[in-house]
Amino acid sequence: MRIDLRSDTVTKPTKGMLEAMFTAEVGDDVYKEDPTVNELERRLADLFGKDEALFFPTGSMANQTALKLHTNPGEQVICDKYAHIYNYEGGGASFNSGISCKLIDGDRGMFNANQVVAAINPPDFYHSPLTSLVEVENTTNKGGGACWDFEELKQIRKICDNHNLGYHLDGARLWNALVNTNESPQDYGQLFDTISVCLSKGLGCPMGSVLIGDKELMEGAIRVRKILGGGMRQIGYVAAAGLYALDHHVDRLAEDHHKAKEIGKILEQMSIIKKVEPIETNIIIFELESHVDETEFLRQLSDHDIHIIGMGSNKLRMVTHLDYTDEMHERLLDILDQF
Ligand SMILES: *Cc1c(COP(=O)(O)O)cnc(C)c1O
Repeated sequence: MRIDLRSDTVTKPTKGMLEAMFTAEVGDDVYKEDPTVNELERRLADLFGKDEALFFPTGSMANQTALKLHTNPGEQVICDKYAHIYNYEGGGASFNSGISCKLIDGDRGMFNANQVVAAINPPDFYHSPLTSLVEVENTTNKGGGACWDFEELKQIRKICDNHNLGYHLDGARLWNALVNTNESPQDYGQLFDTISVCLSKGLGCPMGSVLIGDKELMEGAIRVRKILGGGMRQIGYVAAAGLYALDHHVDRLAEDHHKAKEIGKILEQMSIIKKVEPIETNIIIFELESHVDETEFLRQLSDHDIHIIGMGSNKLRMVTHLDYTDEMHERLLDILDQF
């Protein structure tokens, strides 16, 4: 039995999802004539209480579009040093928007309002880049699936208002945060100018992300998507997977979180493991004792057909997901127990 915990992106569409895809009604989405895409966009805009939503092939493209909408070349976005837009989007911030990132040295990918204030360049000091955007990630990816304190996000909104800054949420795993807290999509919609959400992570779709925002900002989004090569035709077949996932795969994320916590408990008892980061959602990050060889540890796991990823400096990551079954879970716990 292969157990793949490298990422929650390794899932394959379920029978029900494929059924929904096969039977989707489609049209040419570049002409905005795909009824299923239009339905998905309308549904997500409404869910977050925003005017508009736009379907993207990837989360990176949705984020990159948001950066472009909020900034002009030469300007600066404030984000955490762990941010996906900084670390994992191929340098897109500079390539696509000509902007730089001012990194905050946060905690597990999160920071506070005072740190934002300190990171803003004075607008009249023309020697430094003009700060125009604050970007946060919830849950944090490199931060180990941590969930933001909503009160802190509100404080940061105030700072953005006072300094005339845009506020973008990379919500690739916002669904995980939502099932874990009392907040609703509307709460997030009220707080942020733009939000990107992924359908291809915990929700189990083969692809797709959606950028959500108010009319004024979103007007330029479809052009930016076109420029980035993201105009798609009969993509309702994929949007149908998204609609299906919203109906069937959101609440079940709690199971992934539960399994992750159980794995964490076993890891904590293992003598070769130095530290397990707090587990709030479906991501587990842990560090091996310095005398343990990471490659050797990964090899031993892969001998059992268990696959996880190394993050450098003896840190490793596991991510639970839709295709990680109860049976796999029991087997994994057994094997870890025997280490
Ligand atoms: C996965 C992810 C994205 C988007 O990645 P794509 O692979 O481009 O879909 C964006 N932000 C975060 C935090 C992610 O984990």
